[in-house]
Amino acid sequence: MSRRRAIVIGSGIGGLSLGIRLQSLGFDTTIVEKLSGPGGRASVRRVDGFTFDMGPTVITVPHFIEELFALERGVSNLDVPDFPPEVVDERNRVTSGVSGGPHTSRYVKIIPILPFYRIYFDDGTFFDYDGDPTHTREQIRRLGEPGDLEGYERFHRDAKAIFDRGFLELGYTHFDTVGSMLKVAPDLLRLDAVRTLFKFSSKYFASDKLRQVFSFETLLVGGNPLSVPAIYAMIHFVEKTWGIHFAMGGTGALVNGFVRKFEELGGTMRYNAEVSRINVVQQGKQRRATGITLADGNVLEAELVASNGDWAATYGKLIDPKYRRWNSDARIRLTKQSMSLLVIYFGFKADGREDQKLRHHTIILGPRYEELLKDIFGRKLLAEDFSQYLHVPTLTDPSLAPPGHHAAYTLIPVPHNGSGLDWRELGEPLVNTVLRFLDERGYLPGLMNRLVHKSYITPDYFQHTLNSHLGNAFGPEPLLRQSAFFRPHNRSEDIANLYMVGAGVQPGAGTPSVMMSAKMTARLIAEDFGMPNSVLLGEASGELVVR
Ligand SMILES: Cc1cc2nc3c(=O)[nH]c(=O)nc-3n(C[C@H](O)[C@H](O)[C@H](O)COP(=O)(O)OP(=O)(O)OC[C@H]3O[C@@H](n4cnc5c(N)ncnc54)[C@H](O)[C@@H]3O)c2cc1C
Repeated sequence: MSRRRAIVIGSGIGGLSLGIRLQSLGFDTTIVEKLSGPGGRASVRRVDGFTFDMGPTVITVPHFIEELFALERGVSNLDVPDFPPEVVDERNRVTSGVSGGPHTSRYVKIIPILPFYRIYFDDGTFFDYDGDPTHTREQIRRLGEPGDLEGYERFHRDAKAIFDRGFLELGYTHFDTVGSMLKVAPDLLRLDAVRTLFKFSSKYFASDKLRQVFSFETLLVGGNPLSVPAIYAMIHFVEKTWGIHFAMGGTGALVNGFVRKFEELGGTMRYNAEVSRINVVQQGKQRRATGITLADGNVLEAELVASNGDWAATYGKLIDPKYRRWNSDARIRLTKQSMSLLVIYFGFKADGREDQKLRHHTIILGPRYEELLKDIFGRKLLAEDFSQYLHVPTLTDPSLAPPGHHAAYTLIPVPHNGSGLDWRELGEPLVNTVLRFLDERGYLPGLMNRLVHKSYITPDYFQHTLNSHLGNAFGPEPLLRQSAFFRPHNRSEDIANLYMVGAGVQPGAGTPSVMMSAKMTARLIAEDFGMPNSVLLGEASGELVVR
């Protein structure tokens, strides 16, 4: 069997993870990236001495990262258990000390963060969520209504059952047939996991504040708590089980570690290389991907092509409609896209009191919850009020800012570009309103006088720089009717040797999910190319030898 060439379009965390896995399977992989650096949504902005992670900051499930760093050329490990007993065992869960494991620490230092989040409500009260049952109960007692403590015990039990079935047992299932979906439907009904998450959390908590605390997390993966199925209650449990972590140097340091690993395994990175077409040949009834054409006209041939780009943009813009029956323009139009974001990157002089009110991850909820979500996802309006997630990594890692300064970003969910909002007009005033809010409400007193850097991205960045349909920030919205079998598939239904990986396909958005997506796609590829899940390279010839 001779060596095979693979092309991955896009160097997001999912694309890099798949690149590493393809190298471990023995492919010769080239990752072609439109931008001048790696990471996609996890790119880094370096300016005026500040280092800003542009996207993901909350790292979860560190053993997924360890798994990637442990791969070797010819040792794909696709057949080892996804959740070996040692990672599920309570005694081995890392919420303090150094997380990650021996292979990870050769590339990047990852540490746990506590509390996971501080969540402020509009009246100034807050909830520190850290996964510790005693501390959580104390806060529920302080903030909740009568009965909420008992409700929490039931929530905990039911969310754990969803996590056990939905994540530990089914997390890696690629739902590619209706039958595969029907098989799990009774479980979803039994676990009440098809009800919306907000209704699910409202079953257990009478307090509005607690309903918010136990439902907001899906916003971090593009899901509206009012419409995502309660299967997403598992996020709460994923965090509680393995903690929340931070890569020292920022998420960019993790991305650089993945690039290094990929290159050490023999993979090739090509930046400033936008793909304008996925080349397809029709042979009889079968269509097959043969490679790609770059925007500069160069053609790269390969035995397989995988796109880490946005699902709708990959099919809609890179593949001739005559080759697409499943992933048609009509399906793209009917698919609901997740919301978008305004993200403000800012650097400011420290006054030494930032840690009094803020934590590394601070959520600041606005006065309205349900109605604001309806404005963003349903009515697609830019409301006057807003909720935000404020990230101040320099509270943990001062190296990200010049001495005596902090680097921060704050992220505001906003409608995607199907709204018709003009961000060239709306961006700057909203940015100033948000920064003034942080100053005047005392989260960062005097911020406007201490500010030394300010820049921002809007839905236009997601649409035009990251090539995401309608400027979505997280791919198709994770609705029940767009999940599992109904979420785009990782193996193209239309074209042989074409695969998808990342937030737009199964299982969904978020950094752990896109790493899972890469493993699921690698398994499909191994199956299609007749490779068992473990392969060894012949030492002398470099050819694949089946173990
Ligand atoms: C602001 C923000 C904060 C977030 N915070 C968190 C968090 O804290 N924790 C968490 O787990 N998740 C978070 N997420 C979600 C998470 O970042 C994403 O789901 C995940 O990183 C997406 O990775 P991906 O592999 O799908 O690829 P992406 O990051 O979407 O990368 C796709 C790549 O493809 C490239 N590309 C597209 N089209 C082409 C083309 N035609 N030719 C060549 N290249 C192309 C793009 O340039 C891009 O580099 C956040 C997302 C955002 C936007």
